[in-house]
Amino acid sequence: MASYRDLLRAAKSRITEITPEEAEARLGSATFLDVRELDEYEQGMIPGSVFLPRGHLESQADSKLGDKSKPVVIYCAAGNRSAFAAETLEQLGFEDVVSMAGGFGRWKNEGREWQTPKLLNPEQRNRYGRHILLPEVGEAGQQKLLESRVLLLGAGGLGSPAALYLAAAGVGTLGIVDMDVVDSSNLQRQILHNMDRIGERKVDSAKKTLTDLNPDVDVVTYDVRFGADNVLDILDGYDVVVDGTDNFPTRYLLNDASLLKRIPVVHGSIFRFEGQVTVFDPYNGPCYRCLLPEPPPAELAPSCAEAGVLGVLPGIVGSIQALEAIKLLLDLGDPLRGRLLAYDALEESFRSFKVRRDPNCPACGEHAGEIVIAEYDEHCLPHAVLADGSTTGH
Ligand SMILES: [Zn+2]
Repeated sequence: MASYRDLLRAAKSRITEITPEEAEARLGSATFLDVRELDEYEQGMIPGSVFLPRGHLESQADSKLGDKSKPVVIYCAAGNRSAFAAETLEQLGFEDVVSMAGGFGRWKNEGREWQTPKLLNPEQRNRYGRHILLPEVGEAGQQKLLESRVLLLGAGGLGSPAALYLAAAGVGTLGIVDMDVVDSSNLQRQILHNMDRIGERKVDSAKKTLTDLNPDVDVVTYDVRFGADNVLDILDGYDVVVDGTDNFPTRYLLNDASLLKRIPVVHGSIFRFEGQVTVFDPYNGPCYRCLLPEPPPAELAPSCAEAGVLGVLPGIVGSIQALEAIKLLLDLGDPLRGRLLAYDALEESFRSFKVRRDPNCPACGEHAGEIVIAEYDEHCLPHAVLADGSTTGH
């Protein structure tokens, strides 16, 4: 009967071992796979490693490692469990697998870079379990969401579903800008609020609802008018902005500020039975002024006035905005960058239109002057931006 030493010697004879020095040269090109137990991993790991304890290797290798042609460097504490793991991965069809001799102990003792992993606590691991099951998100993606900051303009029809879903998904910081109070006429669609909140500041009502939903989320409230005097300060430090405003002046102001700050904006709008969503990613795609160089005349700008909107519609559009924000935060899939998604509730149809970056855009074009943060008046009349970057109007 074979002893442990016999098995280990046999495994090592069939796999490839490399030194920590050789492994270090593969950082960035190979996947580093840590097959130790959680209590060992918690003490320190090689940055960027995939954590998959030896006991779950066969069952989870496909989902955690993905592409079988990508090189894998396996390590454990001393280089023995990783030798057995390397053999297993080869049997599972992984094409380029090596085991790191001496393990994490030798890596660390030789002075190579390591870090203590940021781990979700058991309650979070349970709460976000459905995210963690997705290899494209996983525990690292969830950790990233918890460290992310999203600013919502408006705690109304679009901001309500967007904020609820972003909070539920565990986006760690949600900023909310709104200077209104809750009115009973809001409740037809603004699902952050309820009867008990009538007369309360919308940002306070939003904070209560979101904190009740997910205590992991830090809700930062801005009970102010979003204007040229504060836009740059408010935007500072956010990763993505979800725009749920209903007026042209604020959209232009936000566009110009987001270009200056290079923060992507997930734009949404609704009118009667129709909605639109797109992503403005500064200098990587069109901006709001590429789409609409100047606001329409006031009489043709229905969203500036009181307009009807079917309940539920903002829920659909705001939810798509939340989804796009999460995709941007996690670098997932194809965001609606350069595409405008139009939803018609009566037809129950979605159409997608290409939106190109305009080389002559007054804000992000090749010859655009310096961006000036200026107010647009309440009638949606533009302060025309002149070629030299100065503005007209009051
Ligand atoms: Zn532009």
